[in-house]
Amino acid sequence: MAVKQDLRTPIVSVMGHVDHGKTTLLDRIRGSTVAEGEAGAITQHIGATEVPIDIIVNKCGNPDLRNKFIVPGLLFIDTPGHHAFTSLRSRGGSLADLAIVIIDINEGFMPQTIESLQILKRFKTPFVVVANKIDRIHGWEAQKNAPFIVSYNKQADNVKAELDRKFYEIVGELYEAGFNSERHDRVSDFQRNIGIIPISAMTGEGIPDVLMVLLGLAQRFLEGNLHYNANGPGVGTVLEVKEEKGLGTTIDVILYDGTLKKGDMIVVGSLGKPIQTKVRALLKPRPLSEIKAEEKFKQVQSVTAAIGVKISAPNLDSALAGSPVRVVTPENIDAISDEIQNEIEDVQIDTDAM
Ligand code: GDP
Repeated sequence: MAVKQDLRTPIVSVMGHVDHGKTTLLDRIRGSTVAEGEAGAITQHIGATEVPIDIIVNKCGNPDLRNKFIVPGLLFIDTPGHHAFTSLRSRGGSLADLAIVIIDINEGFMPQTIESLQILKRFKTPFVVVANKIDRIHGWEAQKNAPFIVSYNKQADNVKAELDRKFYEIVGELYEAGFNSERHDRVSDFQRNIGIIPISAMTGEGIPDVLMVLLGLAQRFLEGNLHYNANGPGVGTVLEVKEEKGLGTTIDVILYDGTLKKGDMIVVGSLGKPIQTKVRALLKPRPLSEIKAEEKFKQVQSVTAAIGVKISAPNLDSALAGSPVRVVTPENIDAISDEIQNEIEDVQIDTDAM
């Protein structure tokens, strides 16, 4: 089975308590591949990083896997901590197709992190838990970028025992919260059991396992959700509303369906009536090699899902992070504005009720 052209890249969000390692994990997923001389293949988006399937397969160390997966890669949302997961919606569900919940193995779960699990369960978003900072376990001998089991097998018996002890405390906490869990390499049914991957975002240990498990989850549970129409009108979610020098207020958007072009009419959610405006410019980050002092972004004529992009347009001041963005025509602009207004009201009621 090869990559299917009509399936878009799954969107992955990383959730977890502050300081448990979200940023370091994302940097590691990006950075270690850069260090391996594959920098050109990683695409930095606005608010997201795309890792193509070939690189993921290389990092997993088994080229035969190449033909097993149907998704073109993974798109990691880069805004850890900026938003409650609940506010990042796509039509009818969560914006993220998959999630990583990160905890510090030495500290265990925080109450908000347990809440995130409950929300993921409610939205039926496949996810994996990573137990980070295993390198801090006393006596741990780091094996840079190794798969977890390779690294684990090289540790002294007392170090393994300490990891197991901390690990099963986490399994216990999850059980009390109503979840069955097990180490990822022992889970046979990810719908019944949560997989927990011990990792170190610092040393890269366990990172191949994280990528493999995400691909496995995408493969098993997402195919039906990833069909999209590349030629259809663009549909996305606002990640952030940002003031940019010389551009005024802009919105960073994750586009999850269709195409968005310069000059398109769009409707954007706000706290009042949805904003109706026209795309003045579509901006992507300039590649690192080309950065000049004043030019952070480069303009593109059009973008196709799944992608992160910055939109410059008039009247975006009241745009609302977490709300929908849709390309419209003069015929459907009013109907779609009404739909967006209703969606925002629903999300607010829903969030208030939680
Ligand atoms: P965030 O708030 O969840 O984004 O957490 P950060 O990624 O900023 O990490 C918080 C702190 O923990 C930083 O000082 C990191 O260097 C450190 N840290 C993150 N991951 C690891 C790890 O695997 N091992 C160790 N020893 N420290 C880590």
